[in-house]
Amino acid sequence: MPKPSEASFDVVIFGSGPGGEGAAMHLAKNGKNVAVIERFHRVGGGGTHWGTIPSKSLRHAIFQVAEANRNPFLRATDNTFQPSFPQLRKAANAVVDRQVEMRRTYFERNDVTLYHGRGCFVDAHTVEVEGSSGARHRARANSFIIATGARPHQPPDVDFGHPRIFDSDKILKLDHTPQSITIYGAGVVGCEYTSMFRNLNAKVNLINTRSKLLEFLDDEIVDALSYHMRDQGVLLRHNEEYATVQGMDDGVVLTLKSGKQIKTDILLWASGRTGNTDNLGLEAIGIQPEGRARILKVNDHYQTTVQHIYAVGDVIGFPSLASAAFVQGRYAAAHILGKVDPSLSRNVPTGIYTSPEISSVGKTEAQLTADKVPYEIGHAAFKNIARAQITGQTVGMLKILFHRESLELLGIHCFGANASEIIHIGQAIMAQTGPANTLMYFINTTFNYPTMAEVYRVAALNGYNRLF
Ligand SMILES: Cc1cc2nc3c(=O)[nH]c(=O)nc-3n(C[C@H](O)[C@H](O)[C@H](O)COP(=O)(O)OP(=O)(O)OC[C@H]3O[C@@H](n4cnc5c(N)ncnc54)[C@H](O)[C@@H]3O)c2cc1C
Repeated sequence: MPKPSEASFDVVIFGSGPGGEGAAMHLAKNGKNVAVIERFHRVGGGGTHWGTIPSKSLRHAIFQVAEANRNPFLRATDNTFQPSFPQLRKAANAVVDRQVEMRRTYFERNDVTLYHGRGCFVDAHTVEVEGSSGARHRARANSFIIATGARPHQPPDVDFGHPRIFDSDKILKLDHTPQSITIYGAGVVGCEYTSMFRNLNAKVNLINTRSKLLEFLDDEIVDALSYHMRDQGVLLRHNEEYATVQGMDDGVVLTLKSGKQIKTDILLWASGRTGNTDNLGLEAIGIQPEGRARILKVNDHYQTTVQHIYAVGDVIGFPSLASAAFVQGRYAAAHILGKVDPSLSRNVPTGIYTSPEISSVGKTEAQLTADKVPYEIGHAAFKNIARAQITGQTVGMLKILFHRESLELLGIHCFGANASEIIHIGQAIMAQTGPANTLMYFINTTFNYPTMAEVYRVAALNGYNRLF
């Protein structure tokens, strides 16, 4: 076997997703000699190829069609659009291609060496990459960042080879529009696909293994999501666990431990993710993956139990968001550079692209109550906002939680159209230090009219007027 080529770098990064990219760009721009190892033939990571970008592009395409079909002018002409799932998917693929091309140039322009192939530690300072052609390269470095992401968890008793049984990667290749679907697992991915398939007019059963949806969110938002899903016709079942999944020629039968049986055209398994740590050679260098193969032992600087080896993004578990992975990558890079900027915020907002969309930042009511913080609430319903009335997107609400004495913002929770954009106004004020983080900002600021941003003023006044 020919000897592998050898090269030395300051930092070697595993994975070109948001975690790896965030780290690589920060290190390269600060003069470090960086290599990124990517086992897929294109850069961008799961976030670009199987996660955020394809799912959000698909969602947008589905939403556009649903909106058009609800449009009274189109309805008056007795016309509707019925594009097939593959046609909608095509729109998503175009965005993926643009993203990949753009991200490839980032690596190129910043002189980051890209190795395409599977990386594996040989020892604590050397990795070996085996490319698809069989060529081997060795790279030595002072520091390493593991940003290998995660993949859908596949229990061995579910046959993912069956043409009607899908996980969140395989569903992107669905070649027809199903009449009905069962989604097993009501986490973020399960809830988002529930909304997408419902907007495609499929009958949707959402099976939740827990007692309520998305438990990390504020209760009022969770209640609103459950209400609106049911109102849209989704069959929601909580506290259920599967016994068997049986793929048949004409459908899939899900049998639950409670004895219930559900038969639909297809089934999407959306229950958990497994870290991409297999064959990385971690055990040999003293890093022990745990809990579905993730690297759970990292400190506040994202250092693993081996100090010069960092881990960021989905491979370290919660919150498993592209936004968080990118920031964690930048933070790990800054720590390697010895230049951590204390203003780099790690307060990650949640953005959940269900219908209605959900976004939040900061504490929930349950957390503030448990911590015995004296807080007050300001509410504003979208239906009372002029801009929402104009666009017709009146389903939604903004809720501001603030300290009733200092007026400091403690949490912001929103659902409704563009919630994930709207949240950032509140986040910007909440991130201010000292007295600049105040509810009064929204009361004393002139907002464009009509805008959705105005919802902050309405909610702030609502809360302020509750004080005595
Ligand atoms: C359906 C779905 C929808 C989502 N929607 C959103 C959303 O709307 N917003 C959001 O913020 N997040 C979303 N996410 C989550 C988001 O995609 C992930 O949090 C993000 O991609 C994690 O980034 P990462 O860099 O940790 O890993 P990834 O993006 O998964 O990248 C890891 C890379 O490492 C490579 N790799 C793995 N092992 C090796 C190895 N041994 N050698 C070399 N390379 C290797 C992989 O090929 C991959 O390219 C979604 C996820 C899914 C599944």
